[in-house]
Amino acid sequence: MARIFNFSAGPAALPLEVLETAQAELTDWQGSGMSVMEVSHRSKPFIALADQAEADLRELMGISDDYAVMFLQGGATQQFALIPMNLSAAGQTVDQLVTGSWSKKALSQGQAVRTVNVVADGAESSYTDVPAPESWNLTADAAYFHYCANETIGGLEFQTVPDVGNVPVVCHMSSNILSRPVEVNKFGMIYAGAQKNIGPAGLTIVVVRKDLIAAGGKGLPDILKYSTQADAGSMSNTPPTFAWYMAGLGFDWIKRQGGLAVMGELNKAKADKLYGAIDGSGFYASPVALAYRSWMNIPFTLANPDLDGVFLAQAADAGMVNLKGHRSVGGLRASIYNAVPMDAIDALVSFMEEFERKNG
Ligand code: PMP
Repeated sequence: MARIFNFSAGPAALPLEVLETAQAELTDWQGSGMSVMEVSHRSKPFIALADQAEADLRELMGISDDYAVMFLQGGATQQFALIPMNLSAAGQTVDQLVTGSWSKKALSQGQAVRTVNVVADGAESSYTDVPAPESWNLTADAAYFHYCANETIGGLEFQTVPDVGNVPVVCHMSSNILSRPVEVNKFGMIYAGAQKNIGPAGLTIVVVRKDLIAAGGKGLPDILKYSTQADAGSMSNTPPTFAWYMAGLGFDWIKRQGGLAVMGELNKAKADKLYGAIDGSGFYASPVALAYRSWMNIPFTLANPDLDGVFLAQAADAGMVNLKGHRSVGGLRASIYNAVPMDAIDALVSFMEEFERKNG
């Protein structure tokens, strides 16, 4: 069967080349007579793979030696809890910005651990916009400021890094990491689940300023401390070796595309084309404020929502799947991460035009 156009929000489409390399190497990795899944994480070949993947990620994102890079398990969800435990101490306030489902989830976990000041909450706009930064209620001595760079469900993405003075910025980047260039030096910490723009699920990337974790996490069990995993090269226990290998193949693929500047241009062009089709019709609509429209997750509605099911069924027949909006918001959503090619956007736009002609 031919490959289908997969608009899944995550786990999501991976580059065909990456999958084919993994397939070719599956039973005999590097002439070892074994799969990469069957070797020790402490073996020399695996350590070399792990080091190369980290070096490639550092090169792609421009991560300096001031930052630790970790390859962990537990997903972004586990980070929601580990961040307050590690980057703040009892008695300190942490600042969190709420812009949609995922930053709300992060808020609930922050509140389980610390006193949280909600800097602003976009509920009034149903999370289709972000309250004006001038209205944010920032804490001058907050342990850190947490926000979600791209809300996967709402399709709301920050185009710039919020300016919060000297407070370290902790950025949740699950659904837009590696989608465009990023100024890592503006952040205290960046974290992301791998299953959208990097590789398979089961791996979480954490990039964190070493000085922020050196003294943190007092009283925590070792396995919950960032410093434990940073000191152990993410191998305090067995890391997700296959996901790490796949991430390495993914980093290499992005490097071969030309790096994040090229990915960013392509992703912008893909998003512009799809928003253009939505805005240019009288039939489709995007709910998200112009300034915060995501390049990665594009929710849209039909003039007649009763046709959502027909749209999805006919799109699937035409080779385009996973276009249903998240159950919490409904409507439709196209997730167009790095591995979703321009051909997929062209096919979707043609299908949308045809669907509108028949049903508009
Ligand atoms: N944050 C964001 C922005 C997400 O899109 C998702 C998954 N859809 C999650 C968190 C949940 O992450 P995980 O399952 O890796 O814990």
